[in-house]
Amino acid sequence: MNEYDSNRIYDSVKKIGFEKTENYEDASCYLLNTCHIRNKAKEKVYHEIGRVKKIFRHKKKPLVIIAGCVAQAENQEMLKREPYIDLVIGPQSYHKINDTILNHIEKKKKIEQTEFDAISKFKYFNKIKNEAGKVSSFITIQEGCDKFCHFCVVPYTRGPEYSRSFKEIIDETKYLADNGAKEIILLGQNVNAYDNEGYRLSNLILEIEKISEIERIRYTTSHPKDMTEDLIEVYKESKKLMPLVHLPVQSGSNKILDLMNRKHTINEYIEIFDSLKAINPNIEFSSDFIIGYPGEETQDFEDTFNLIKRIKFINSYSFIFSPRPGTIAADLKLINKKVSMERLEKVQTQLFENQITMNKSLKNKTLNVLVENLTEDKMKVFGRSEYMTPVIFNGKKDDIGKIVPVKIRQSNRSTLFGEIIDNANQKVA
Ligand code: SF4
Repeated sequence: MNEYDSNRIYDSVKKIGFEKTENYEDASCYLLNTCHIRNKAKEKVYHEIGRVKKIFRHKKKPLVIIAGCVAQAENQEMLKREPYIDLVIGPQSYHKINDTILNHIEKKKKIEQTEFDAISKFKYFNKIKNEAGKVSSFITIQEGCDKFCHFCVVPYTRGPEYSRSFKEIIDETKYLADNGAKEIILLGQNVNAYDNEGYRLSNLILEIEKISEIERIRYTTSHPKDMTEDLIEVYKESKKLMPLVHLPVQSGSNKILDLMNRKHTINEYIEIFDSLKAINPNIEFSSDFIIGYPGEETQDFEDTFNLIKRIKFINSYSFIFSPRPGTIAADLKLINKKVSMERLEKVQTQLFENQITMNKSLKNKTLNVLVENLTEDKMKVFGRSEYMTPVIFNGKKDDIGKIVPVKIRQSNRSTLFGEIIDNANQKVA
């Protein structure tokens, strides 16, 4: 979502004369869009500002703006702690960024904007074209969260759940499609909680399906509680919805899910998996896991491990629990660090094995790959399979934006290597 937000911020500040620079050492404005999910997010921001200060020591100080969730969480505190920062602007105030910058330039006053005002924000951005111009383009359809999992800062930094207008999303998708987008990734902290005047995520998917230029549709990140019947049924109807379902489960233990306030059980999760597999056996799941959550005992961990083996998740994210200030879990007693590390290692070994097994099973198979760009050395092309796995092969610049058949020859854990089917007799290094 921060990538999408950064592009939208750029679409906005272009209107008051700013341009992106490849060489930020020459920048007159430095904007850091921050994420609060990762450990020590706040300290990383101050560390980065320290680095910027050094770079600009003998130059004119740039206008320094901190945006994103750390800005939201820290607000005034940032301006007090680090005088080098000029503006602090939270994710629901980006529509005010141009006025805030101009105001600062005129009055030299430090400003903090951190109100939750998603309605005004999306009204403002609906009028500004999304110029991302990418083959695979993001669209935020929903923001915020009302679920309050005990470990998570999102409800405090992104505010309550808000769904954008159905029509505005379709208009934005059409504009992106006219400008080369072939894949749309619908974004939201609780994307499948989307609800705009009765239109749900399933309705959006089926409407986007009608836009002929769009060939692939994805959505992220979902909550198991919002995997409603209509969304599951869409997998029967849709030809463009990709078969990778990213559905965070966090733990395989009902006891831990309850302690986390996740509001669903493992049985419910497995039922979703079984229903989707019954519709399309090629559907695969990826997930997020928090290992060593306070209260996690050996049996709870074993339940998580067994779930990973049962579902055979691919491309998953796993981390040891780390407390986020201001959340309920921040005050809970941590479990032994060594035990957490051992459990994480065991989980990651199994997750990696799932990935490797999946990738190896694709050898000599032909996959449809959406080509996104040239590789850095410009010798090959980079695309993604239906499961989001990166694929590198001997395509040409003209293939960018097309879905081409690629025969897979080799793989490692994260990437597939192949050759475009027309050139199948050529050897790939
Ligand atoms: S549902 Fe997701 S975004 Fe909301 S509190 Fe839980 S983990 Fe955070």
